[in-house]
Amino acid sequence: MEGTILHLQKMSTEDGPGIRTTVFFKGCGLHCAWCHNPESISFKPEIQWFASRCLNCLTCIAHCPENYLSMTDQGLQINRSSCTGCFQCAAACPANAIEPLGKRISVPELMAELRKDLAYYQASGGGVTLSGGEPSLQVNFCEALLQNLKQEGIATALDTCGICSSAALQRLLPHVNLVMFDLKIMDHELHKKFTGVGNTQILENLKMLAGYLKTQAPAPELWIRTPLIPGATANEENLAAIGSFLQQNLPGRVSRWELCAFNNLCRDQYKRLYIPWDYAEQNLMSHEEVEHWGEVARNSGISPEIVVTSGATRVEVLAC
Ligand code: SF4
Ligand code: SF4
Repeated sequence: MEGTILHLQKMSTEDGPGIRTTVFFKGCGLHCAWCHNPESISFKPEIQWFASRCLNCLTCIAHCPENYLSMTDQGLQINRSSCTGCFQCAAACPANAIEPLGKRISVPELMAELRKDLAYYQASGGGVTLSGGEPSLQVNFCEALLQNLKQEGIATALDTCGICSSAALQRLLPHVNLVMFDLKIMDHELHKKFTGVGNTQILENLKMLAGYLKTQAPAPELWIRTPLIPGATANEENLAAIGSFLQQNLPGRVSRWELCAFNNLCRDQYKRLYIPWDYAEQNLMSHEEVEHWGEVARNSGISPEIVVTSGATRVEVLAC
């Protein structure tokens, strides 16, 4: 059995407790306007081109069996909708100017890689996190991977955007120690506007999760994550509505509600993929803004101590 992953991030300290390896899966059912992993949206393996490394030798064009590449004044043009992801162009490039995005991998191959950092997981209380993209959309592969990890005593976390069938999620839950569930926007129409999909399935999955947690002892830990996006998620009405939903449906079940500050470090990634990005000119938030939204969340009816803020903030340069 094989899955399509984007990459592994080793020594991660942001995707659950302790030191972790995060497996980023390829493919997502949401198209969030602010997505900071645009390379994870498509299920297909893709390529990205680095203009600064390119020698303009045109070797890649000669090696594409399908003629999906051309060089113009604007740089290497890739017929992305037709590209098969065979990576022959990347292999032929003498300057590493073309990099593969995504690879097929088997469970035993991936386990061999994940086992290498076992000592770090054990010493730090860490483990392996499945993230993406949306891992549960490759449910057969994820289930087999999680079962293997659990059998070897490696702690597991699932980072999900919730846009998957309840049946898929139910298959994965017995094998995870921590669920990190994204809850972005409570208003259905606004959710659709900013992510391309309404939030009905996401809220249903959270309610299913609430029922599941009640029946488990010990139950997996649950973290809720909300990105703070100016003009989209970061407003009083939305954060109050999320807090109210959590209090009503998951009282005492959420151990952490993390507000993740808007991140613009993916700007160049959008350029490499030739995808226009609405947030290209958007600055990072100031520390004060992020703390303000933290206070709004703390006053939304949930236990205030579960709210944490994270992410890079803007450094203000003060005039002397
Ligand atoms: S990945 Fe394969 S199909 Fe796609 S552009 Fe490169 S050589 Fe052509
Ligand atoms: S083979 Fe590499 S260096 Fe040569 S034109 Fe293609 S991308 Fe540029």
